[in-house]
Amino acid sequence: MLAARLSALPAFPLAQRMSRMKASAVREILKVAERPDVLSFAGGLPAPELFPVEAIAQAHAEVLADDGRAALQYSTTEGYGPLREWITSHLGEGGLHAATDQVLITNGSQQGIELVAKVMLDPGDVVIVENPSYLAALQTFSGFEVDFAVVGSDNDGMRVDDLERLVGGERKPKLIYLVPNFQNPKGTTLSLERRHALVRFAQRHRILILEDNPYGELRFRGEHLPSLASLDTEGVVISLGSFSKVLAPGLRLGWAVGPRELIRHLTVIKQASDLHTASLAQRAAARLLTRFDFNAHLETLRAVYGERCQTMLSALEKHMPAGTRWTVPEGGMFVWVELPRGMSADTLFPLALDKRVAFVPGSPFFASEPRSEFMRLNYSNRPSELIEEGMRRLGAVIASQQQ
Ligand code: PMP
Repeated sequence: MLAARLSALPAFPLAQRMSRMKASAVREILKVAERPDVLSFAGGLPAPELFPVEAIAQAHAEVLADDGRAALQYSTTEGYGPLREWITSHLGEGGLHAATDQVLITNGSQQGIELVAKVMLDPGDVVIVENPSYLAALQTFSGFEVDFAVVGSDNDGMRVDDLERLVGGERKPKLIYLVPNFQNPKGTTLSLERRHALVRFAQRHRILILEDNPYGELRFRGEHLPSLASLDTEGVVISLGSFSKVLAPGLRLGWAVGPRELIRHLTVIKQASDLHTASLAQRAAARLLTRFDFNAHLETLRAVYGERCQTMLSALEKHMPAGTRWTVPEGGMFVWVELPRGMSADTLFPLALDKRVAFVPGSPFFASEPRSEFMRLNYSNRPSELIEEGMRRLGAVIASQQQ
């Protein structure tokens, strides 16, 4: 009764920004794709069997036993000191030297994107993004009523040589957002040469780079490349990291590292947003990281994801009809597939579901000029046997559309 009456009430006038906010197409697709009878490669989920559940449980129990009252109390917006220190030293090992007060703990890297947007962006500002780009970042920026300037990408990541044409106009871009390592959705990595060129470009034009790096630790092939932040000496890069893909996303722990002044602004904005990231989760993570063999855990993740990626690439080779192409990732969780000429992933999606296999059509990942001939496949969340079977089904569906 009450529900019926509530739904009959007139809608409230919403904020202007809501006209730009669409429900994520991927979330809608995932609802269908996660049917238990469907072999889904649509989600972006890590392998749950590799979450260090016991170690995380033990760390929580110890924190509650030793420091329970502090762990359950309000705490500082900046984050738990020992966790910030661990992150600082870990980043140092990777070549990024920052002080602890340059690190802000966030609720995953997703919150880092939102905080940077809130600090930097006014309606009508221009943000440079790769086309295609990480969908939830596009959604966040859209909520701040910005305009996108898009730059293409190839197998070496963002076409940095194409950026210059975006800065000559009336409105100077405020921000360049990119995922340099094992990009979502393409799985590609920004080459070393382009990293240097991008940082030089940002320094020359004084445009802030937002380096979103949740997958950087998941390299299973090739050589580690320096982060954009580590190549910068002029304070033009904010770099986001996350424990989601290397411990567990349910912890909701990430960080932002960057110039002190900007980190201070992000901290003020975070204070108004959620006061602080959960004290218990931060303390448990810090406890876990001091005695759990994190490097051995990373090695396991890399080995398993590397094997699953290889299975997917070999299965694509075996089952996809001629004219289908795909990226060859060196890490991360995704392969980006280009369908044979004239075929649309949007049209293919329901046909694939009929054969009980799912993917994410590529068009929602484009900030402008969407193209329908691409699909994103995730390999981290399924064991190799299912990847092989899934690609067999998918190959048959694609082939059936060619005749
Ligand atoms: N950035 C990218 C590129 C991602 O793919 C994701 C998660 N899918 C995130 C940020 C958000 O991750 P989290 O907030 O869990 O750290």
